[in-house]
Amino acid sequence: MTAPGESLGAALVVDHAALLANLDAVRARVAPAELILVVKDDAYGLGLGPVVRTAITAGVTSFGVSDLGTALEVRAMLGEGPRIIAWPAGASPLLGAAIAASIDLGVGDATLLELVATTAAATGATARVHLKIDTGLHRNGFRSEEWPGAVVRARALEEAGAIAVVGAWSHIAEASDAEDDDARALFEEALGRLAEAGCRVELRHLAASAAAFARPEFRYDAVRIGAFCYGVRSADGPRASALGLRPVAALRGAVVAVEEDEVVVGIGSLDGVPSTLAGRVNVGTPGGARALRRVDAEVLTVASWPGAALGDPVTVFGPGEQHERSATTLAETIGTIGEEILLRVSPRIPRIHLPAGEVRPGNPA
Ligand SMILES: *Cc1c(COP(=O)(O)O)cnc(C)c1O
Repeated sequence: MTAPGESLGAALVVDHAALLANLDAVRARVAPAELILVVKDDAYGLGLGPVVRTAITAGVTSFGVSDLGTALEVRAMLGEGPRIIAWPAGASPLLGAAIAASIDLGVGDATLLELVATTAAATGATARVHLKIDTGLHRNGFRSEEWPGAVVRARALEEAGAIAVVGAWSHIAEASDAEDDDARALFEEALGRLAEAGCRVELRHLAASAAAFARPEFRYDAVRIGAFCYGVRSADGPRASALGLRPVAALRGAVVAVEEDEVVVGIGSLDGVPSTLAGRVNVGTPGGARALRRVDAEVLTVASWPGAALGDPVTVFGPGEQHERSATTLAETIGTIGEEILLRVSPRIPRIHLPAGEVRPGNPA
């Protein structure tokens, strides 16, 4: 028997040619707005370092993360130059290091604003701040009624030299156009207040994948995009191929046992594949699409095919001839979103990075 957690031949295969093509497609689509590539959660489970390196090859110059640790990791990888925006949930012991490393900070509450300012002032540095307004998602951000006070305070801290207000932003639901329109109206009002207070921001950013693609008026100076760059489309949205995007990740397992009319496929992790997918989807096999019958802790049971043999590759999601299943397609069968499926892939499953195979003149490799 195999010890729990061994990979059993499973791998998440990351296609960097597809990633590069998606980055080109996304940048062309949103131009002249700038792409802030969101690389939170280990670049949506694909692997932070390799994704960031390919993005640099593609000419990406701005990155978005949620936590300061990841922001510092990206800074260490890239050196000075690229813009790195982090939106920490609150106080963090890494705040001083982040300010010293010129990490742009998303700030959406008064406590954090004061902390950022005092931390910066203590070291004589100026913190680069993107003020966040809550436009309805209620996740984070100054509420509309708090905003006028917040911008006046931010302006005072700016005049004192502790912070520079370089950005204004919000995050929207992208669930319905009407709600997004309401959110944008609040954003516009907030921008007006900011200007009145005397803050001149260089970067206004509102949209993530879906709105950035579909709605030019949501693009402002920059858009924060993760999912579409990784080939994960929106739930119930247009197909990735219709958007000119390619799947980047494929989750593969290998046959570890052949039984009468079923095969057992190693997937090597306790929780990599949601068990609720059993009986609802097909997986890709050398014999074509076959039903996924059962999901156990480290193995999948799949309907067999003629000539099934040990070691045969089985694709749970990813590009393929007969089983075209993206993480999003799988997700929809169980009422969740593609990111959720990607993020479920255990860090213990090895990532195999297929190089883009292309060094492009004019961009640093
Ligand atoms: C994750 C995230 C994004 C990216 O969203 P996608 O739908 O993956 O493009 C943008 N902004 C914030 C604040 C996020 O947390």
